[in-house]
Amino acid sequence: MAVRPIRITGDPVLHTPALPVTEIDDDIRELVVDMVETMHAAPGVGLAAPQVGVGLRIFVWSWTDEDGVLHEGTAINPELLMAPLPLGELDEDEESEGCLSIPGERFPLRRSPVAVLRATGLDGAPFELRADGWLARIFQHEYDHLDGVLYADRLAHPHDKAVAKAIKKKSWGNPGKSWMPGVDDLDA
Ligand code: ZN
Repeated sequence: MAVRPIRITGDPVLHTPALPVTEIDDDIRELVVDMVETMHAAPGVGLAAPQVGVGLRIFVWSWTDEDGVLHEGTAINPELLMAPLPLGELDEDEESEGCLSIPGERFPLRRSPVAVLRATGLDGAPFELRADGWLARIFQHEYDHLDGVLYADRLAHPHDKAVAKAIKKKSWGNPGKSWMPGVDDLDA
C-alpha cells in the first residue's frame, strides 16, 4: 500500500482518454488500494486512475452525506447516464467544485442533479448505482477524468478565464507536475 503522487493539470495523462481495464489482476487491485489511500491522504472525495498517472478507466469515491451515511466504492470501466442539466443561475456556494489535479482552487460548475453509474466492482461483479446531489456530482467529475476532461475544461465565462489565470500563476499547465499528499503543502 502506498500513497502515490497526484498529477497536476498539464500532464498529458490527465488530458487523454483512458483505456478500458481488460482484466482485474493483482496490479489493478494494488492500484485501487493505492488510489483509495491517496484519496484519503489528499484528502478528497474521489480519485481517478489518470490522476495517479495510470491511463485506465477506474475511479474510486468516498463521501459522507448530510445524514452521516458513507458512500464509497470502486468503478471499473464505468458508464454514466445523466439527467439533463438544469437551467438558471449558478449558485457559487452550492455548485462549486474542486479537483486534486488543480489543488487549492474551486469554481462553480453546473452538473446534473441525478446520475446512474453502471460499472464493474473490484470483485469483478457489475453493479448499478443511482446518485443524486453531491454524489451525482462526484460521479460526473470522476467519469470526466476517464475521458481526459477536467472540470476546468467545462467552466463557463468568467470562471474559465479565472481558472486559466490561476493555473498560469502557479506555473502549472505543462507536463510532469505532481504533488504528494501528506508531503507537499499546496494550500493557497
Ligand atoms: Zn478531479
